[in-house]
Amino acid sequence: MKTLDQLSFDTRFARLGDAFSVEVLPDPIADPRLVVASPAAMALLDLDPAVAEQPLFAELFSGHKLWEGAEPRAMVYSGHQFGGYTPRLGDGRGLLLGEVVNEAGEHWDLHLKGAGQTPFSRMGDGRAVLRSSIREFLGSEALHALGIPSSRALCVIGSSTVVWRETQERAAMLLRLAQSHVRFGHFEYFYYTKQPEQAQQLLDFVLEQYYPECQEESLPYLAMFRSIVERNAELIAHWQAYGFCHGVMNTDNMSILGITFDFGPFAFLDDFDANFVCNHSDDRGRYSYSNQVPIAHWNLSALAQALTPFIEVEALQEALSLFLPLYQAHYLDLMRRRLGLTTAEEDDMALVEQLLHCMQRGGVDYTLFFRHLGEQPVEAALQVVRDEFVDLAAFDQWAEAYGARCAREPNNAEGRRDRMHAVNPLYILRNYLAQQAIEAAEAGDYSVVRELHQVLSRPFEAQPGMQAYAQRPPDWGKHLEISCSS
Ligand code: AMP
Ligand code: MG
Repeated sequence: MKTLDQLSFDTRFARLGDAFSVEVLPDPIADPRLVVASPAAMALLDLDPAVAEQPLFAELFSGHKLWEGAEPRAMVYSGHQFGGYTPRLGDGRGLLLGEVVNEAGEHWDLHLKGAGQTPFSRMGDGRAVLRSSIREFLGSEALHALGIPSSRALCVIGSSTVVWRETQERAAMLLRLAQSHVRFGHFEYFYYTKQPEQAQQLLDFVLEQYYPECQEESLPYLAMFRSIVERNAELIAHWQAYGFCHGVMNTDNMSILGITFDFGPFAFLDDFDANFVCNHSDDRGRYSYSNQVPIAHWNLSALAQALTPFIEVEALQEALSLFLPLYQAHYLDLMRRRLGLTTAEEDDMALVEQLLHCMQRGGVDYTLFFRHLGEQPVEAALQVVRDEFVDLAAFDQWAEAYGARCAREPNNAEGRRDRMHAVNPLYILRNYLAQQAIEAAEAGDYSVVRELHQVLSRPFEAQPGMQAYAQRPPDWGKHLEISCSS
């Protein structure tokens, strides 16, 4: 276990030079205080969880102090936002402090979000509000606990610094961890500004650092692009299977590692709704729940376009064509598990689709349905969940098919409950739960966000006294409007 001053930094990305990022010092926020920290994320840096309580912790992650080895930089990138190309984005309010090398030899980027203005701030103030920092903290740690690839969050530090959004709010900083902060938009930037040398430098950097196994292939860049397609297919399959909606799938928010990245107005589905749009600003529903699949493919095509100087177009197209079948295979695999099935049958996808169709009509809670289905033996469980459905004839038809399908499983009853509970969470980050935690934190009470974080760090395990976190949302919490404002 390390203390804060024992972290050792490497600054690989900074060494790429000024064409990729510029040096900017963090602009501190006033009266820093710890809102919440993640012991699991601290472990990635070998940090003793007790150091979160030290004043130095809040000072470091609010811009007041800096490690000697750190070299804060703002990265430049661009990207397609809601389908249109924005030629210059970049870290407008976040800084890459450097890469910490842990005892296992892994590199973890430390990215301080809300650290003040940079040359890429455009009209923005460089700040992040407490509300959105708490949401990203809870979202990234909750996804990780569900087994969904994601950037991580070390802590949120609150302050008395005032910032203006729709109303007056308080600034905060979030310390994000990821093995890379390179986005699809990085490659788009060098492509559209016609800087092929820099593009190749970045390509080689990503290949060496993050896809070393592809270096052995006869066409390393193509092998890497194929891996990126595969990782994204797997990621989106997880989002769809667990009802996670990202909300702002612009190419500048897509990670080159295929992890969930840049949390904005994200949400988990409460009632199942294929057309759900979590981002209140997305009035055309471009990033609706079911559009996430074609949009991920679209985003990969945008990345492919940026790689055309280095990879044959036909080869890129062939790699892109792998996305949908890979996605479908991963998704079906996850859904089979959620239904307690251990074998594969040809009609399983139809069984899943029929179920979702019934859920859509009934406004059934997507998370609790699977949990309840695994709670008891098949026949009894079907009786319990039946009450949630509106079109009972359709449900009964599905239930009969599902019951018969389970009966064809070898040893279906044996271990069914444990098997299903291990993949069907009891607790997810519902918007209304995040909202309660935010309101308490804004009033100076951090106990709610801390407890919620703890509950969500073990989402598959029923925790005594925490039933309140496993409920369907109350009426006020069903249609909270979450915009891009952050
Ligand atoms: P996001 O919607 O958070 O992914 O941000 C899109 C772009 O806007 C990124 O380049 C951000 O760095 C930038 N940005 C967002 N909020 C601010 C802010 N308050 N100040 C400066 N830049 C910002
Ligand atoms: Mg972003």
